[in-house]
Amino acid sequence: MAEIQKSEISGTPALNNVYIAEMDMWPLETQEFNRIYPFYDNLRAGRFTTTKCKKCGHIAFPPQVICPKCWSEDLEWTELPQRAKVVCLTETQAGAPLGFESPLIIAWLTFGEKSPLKHLLGRIVHCQEGEVKEGDEVKFVSFSVPAHPIEVKKDTKVCDRVYYAFEPVK
Ligand SMILES: [Zn+2]
Repeated sequence: MAEIQKSEISGTPALNNVYIAEMDMWPLETQEFNRIYPFYDNLRAGRFTTTKCKKCGHIAFPPQVICPKCWSEDLEWTELPQRAKVVCLTETQAGAPLGFESPLIIAWLTFGEKSPLKHLLGRIVHCQEGEVKEGDEVKFVSFSVPAHPIEVKKDTKVCDRVYYAFEPVK
């Protein structure tokens, strides 16, 4: 494997080869650090999922390791709808936080009455300023996040990461 420059793996090139974990806004996704790691594996496979309690049937989002209704740890993974409608949104046209490009669009989304997940505050990507309007339909999309060196039992692993957002349905 080619040697990776620290600035490439940090995802924050402005910091000139300094990786500051506190400024990393993406979760650690590996099995060693995160008990909901299947959520990220599913994102990689293009699946938007969450946990469902096998005991009481409660579907929680974000995914949980314990059911917030009945405290059971017997959970399974279930699919969530991949399409939503924009209820309202904000666009940051300049001065987006480090690691984000402008426009940074955050929308309050609705998945409809039949969905176990009714609403979500989500990021909208792959569109220009002013392109998305209230009432527009958007769809789930996963994308890769700059990898991150993690110390695992005296070893350093560079783990690929993934996250999700929504994009306009065209
Ligand atoms: Zn439960």
